[in-house]
Amino acid sequence: MSKTIVTAALPYSYSIPHLGNFVGSVLPADVYFKYLKMGGEDAIFICGSDQHGTPTEIKAMERKQRPEDFANEMHDKTKSAFDKFDCSFTYYGKTNSEQNRETVYKIFQALHKNGYIGETQSLQPYCNFDKRFLVDRFIEGTCPHCKSDKARGDQCDNCGRLLDPKDIINPRCKICGKSDISFLKVKHLAIRLDLLQGKIEKFIETNSKNNWPKAAKNKSLSYIKEGLKPRDITRRMDWGFKVPLEGFTDSVLYVWFEAVIGYIGITSEWDKKKSDEYWLAKETKLIQFMGKDNIEFHTLMWPGILLGSNLGYVLPTTIKSAEYLTSNAEKFSKSRGIGLDLEKAVEILPSDYWRFTLMYLYPETSDSEFTLEILKEVINNILNDKIGNFSQRVIKFSIAHQDLIGKIELHGEYKEKVEAIKDSYSKYFNNMQLREALHSVVELATLGNTILSERRPWEMAKDPKVDKKELSEMLESLLAMVYYVDVLLYPFTPNASRKSLLQFSIKKDPSFEDLKKKISIDMGTIPQPMFSKIGEEELAKFE
Ligand SMILES: [Zn+2]
Ligand SMILES: [Zn+2]
Repeated sequence: MSKTIVTAALPYSYSIPHLGNFVGSVLPADVYFKYLKMGGEDAIFICGSDQHGTPTEIKAMERKQRPEDFANEMHDKTKSAFDKFDCSFTYYGKTNSEQNRETVYKIFQALHKNGYIGETQSLQPYCNFDKRFLVDRFIEGTCPHCKSDKARGDQCDNCGRLLDPKDIINPRCKICGKSDISFLKVKHLAIRLDLLQGKIEKFIETNSKNNWPKAAKNKSLSYIKEGLKPRDITRRMDWGFKVPLEGFTDSVLYVWFEAVIGYIGITSEWDKKKSDEYWLAKETKLIQFMGKDNIEFHTLMWPGILLGSNLGYVLPTTIKSAEYLTSNAEKFSKSRGIGLDLEKAVEILPSDYWRFTLMYLYPETSDSEFTLEILKEVINNILNDKIGNFSQRVIKFSIAHQDLIGKIELHGEYKEKVEAIKDSYSKYFNNMQLREALHSVVELATLGNTILSERRPWEMAKDPKVDKKELSEMLESLLAMVYYVDVLLYPFTPNASRKSLLQFSIKKDPSFEDLKKKISIDMGTIPQPMFSKIGEEELAKFE
């Protein structure tokens, strides 16, 4: 069986991720990973804290902590928040680990040996007020392309272009806010993406056939068309991995360079031997989840590093980039009230409610709108009414009419319909259409609800003219459908799914094999409702 590595873009170590970050990478990666495990795949799920970089250093400075201590503290908090959201990482590690350092150095040396590291002289911004060099993202000003005045030195969030701080119009220092900035000549090392361009282009042309979103492919190819340039991989600062090359030891490797390599480093932190087994096996599939602002790092720079070092590590098979979840057309992360961090979010609503709603709205192919009204509608009308109530009604009725229940299984046309929905669920997952996969579970519950409202079994049970066999088969099919819904919901709402499956004597995480097994149900107790509605009280907590 071929192996699969699922990764989610590494969260920065200076704040707890908010719901917008979560739906962009870790949540869909977790949903997909749980799906793979249900099918018995040999897969691992790797993620971790991106600990280096200036924002972490500055925050630590403000809090009078060592960057390392601050980053580790944030790492623990972030990990605990992800645990509350039931994320099944195989390993959630750190970029500031010895294993990552070792991996980064090995790859750096190979790139150097193969002639893909060049020296550049670049002008690095220096704040005369703070008396320190500034990394690109600590320069702010006007974007030369779209003229947004919120561009950062490394990238413009408005148009998504990567930038050079020199090109920023009216640059300001992010630390002190002043414009007293000089550009001093500094010797840097750069990865020669210009020399790797042909290889990177071939990689994109070939691998984008594996269900990449159109945006990821087109955006990457448009950069190739413009021509790739050498890109700096060193910076004059202290917090990070020292450059392992004479003449450059007063610099560190730039955070993006060692953060992408962190996928391998973190796997080694988990288990060095297994890391090699996964990363060095030619047939391993590498499925990478990220927000759309992270595409280039994964389609140009990261494959450039892998191709240039030529150490046999697998290249990304599928790039799964998400668009933005927006609120009143503002990017989720910036909107007030709902730009909640995970810790706060889970204090307001159970994690399953968030997981379900975020995936129901997952901005898979275009930006998707999130408001409190939509949240309420999805939880009350879909999660509670369509799914939770269906399951509750069927089980309650079955308990009251146990004499009608024989072997719980799908009969006749119910079987056909349910299996067709189950097939499209798998097809959607295999095509990386995660939101559609969830919508097909809702379709299954809707089918069940339609049977209940059209056939009205409570009336049939009282009617002496009704063929009891027909009623039995219908009830047995409905119970089997409840069971199917519980199993198929597992990647999305793992807690509720596990709890409901206890009723069917499934005590471990469900698998697709379970769908083939004989179903039995505990008729002794009426189950608690799976979900409940939210009202004004919950919504008020957002204020
Ligand atoms: Zn711009
Ligand atoms: Zn300054």
